Amino acid sequence: MRCGSGKAGPSPRAPRHRRRERQDVKTVTAIREVRAWRRYGRGSVGLVPTMGYLHAGHLSLVDAARRENDRVAASLFVNPTQFAPTEDLARYPRDLERDTRLLETAGCELLFAPTVEEIYPAGFQTSVDVGTVAAPLEGARRPGHFRGVATVVLKLLGIFRPDRAYFGAKDAQQLAVIRKMVRDLDLTVEIRACPTVRETDGLAMSSRNVYLTAEERHAAPVLHRALLAGRDRWAAGERAAEALRQTIRSVLAEEPQVRVDYVSVADPETCRELETLAGPALLSLAAFLGKARLIDNIVVGDEPAPRD
Ligand code: AMP
Repeated sequence: MRCGSGKAGPSPRAPRHRRRERQDVKTVTAIREVRAWRRYGRGSVGLVPTMGYLHAGHLSLVDAARRENDRVAASLFVNPTQFAPTEDLARYPRDLERDTRLLETAGCELLFAPTVEEIYPAGFQTSVDVGTVAAPLEGARRPGHFRGVATVVLKLLGIFRPDRAYFGAKDAQQLAVIRKMVRDLDLTVEIRACPTVRETDGLAMSSRNVYLTAEERHAAPVLHRALLAGRDRWAAGERAAEALRQTIRSVLAEEPQVRVDYVSVADPETCRELETLAGPALLSLAAFLGKARLIDNIVVGDEPAPRD
């Protein structure tokens, strides 16, 4: 699967030097160490920001970064400012040792795993508010979430000064927020979006899937099935957004364990709800399964035709 920049144009050129399959990943915790790594190395740099507890979705971003850059770095930071007080910050899954091994195998050169104090020292005050794209959907349910995301991503871009940064289409609104920030602030980094990696039964991979009980895990693929039903209805010619939302909701209703948070048919760039589809549309949802809150999405009407 290929990653994209979300706009027409050539893919980045392959880097001049191919990296070894496996190499020791250098783990650093201080910003000055990242700057030193950046200063003394040569060639293009691809950055993969994560919150850790890595899975094949994260590793697909590292793979894409390796294909398109000379050097690949990842960050691992469970960013407290993007969690509301009621959310799962304290119990968010963590396993630095395992993550380091996975990054090593994936061919990542540097892992930046800072403390909260390194990123937000005493007196830290600045925050980034990207405006209306951050307001609906996740932004409406998770107040302050995208302010936290945009602020930490801007910091990481400032720390690493990467040529390209890699994000998953799984978090579609996050991608729209970051693209808007990069455009509005004239940042020179290229934002690359990679397709959602799924389990064989369609469930989008997520660090939060570990919260699911066996029974909830069994029910969870209904999220993807519901989105596919929406896409099928769109493929059959339906262009009324509410009809597509209804289709998605009716499939979700087949699983009594699923508590729907929202079902949305929106513009992929602005995340504003649509009435009628005249171009690409983001079909997205959030749902609770027990303690886990899961999100998923599919884009229709985009090129090339979606395959997941
Ligand atoms: P996280 O660690 O959840 O903050 O995710 C780090 C990056 O990995 C984000 O850009 C996510 O969108 C991306 N990501 C998470 N899950 C997947 C997945 N299943 N497929 C592709 N990318 C993903």
